[in-house]
Amino acid sequence: MLNAEVCNILDISETNQRVLLHRGRTRVRRMWQRVQYWLHLAMCAACRRYVAQMQLTTKMIRRLGDRPGSPGTIDPALREAFRKHHDTHPGP
Ligand SMILES: [Zn+2]
Repeated sequence: MLNAEVCNILDISETNQRVLLHRGRTRVRRMWQRVQYWLHLAMCAACRRYVAQMQLTTKMIRRLGDRPGSPGTIDPALREAFRKHHDTHPGP
C-alpha cells in the first residue's frame, strides 16, 4: 500500500503521517530498551548488585537530608565522607 493511500484512508497529511510514525518508532525503541534492561538485570548478578547499591545510596542520601536541625541539607562532614567512599569504591 502506498503512503498516499494510507494517508487518504486515515485522513491525515503525509507530514502528519511522518510525525506519527516517528513518535511510534520512538515509543517502540524505548519499550525495547526497557525490555533489554530488565532482561540483562535478570541474567547479570553484577548489575543487580550495582542497582541495589545505587538504590541504597539514594535512600541513604535522602535520609541524610531529613536529619533534624538540617532540613534538606547534608552535614558537610558526612558529604565529604560519602565523596571519599565513592571515590575509592567506584562500583563494578
Ligand atoms: Zn551486567
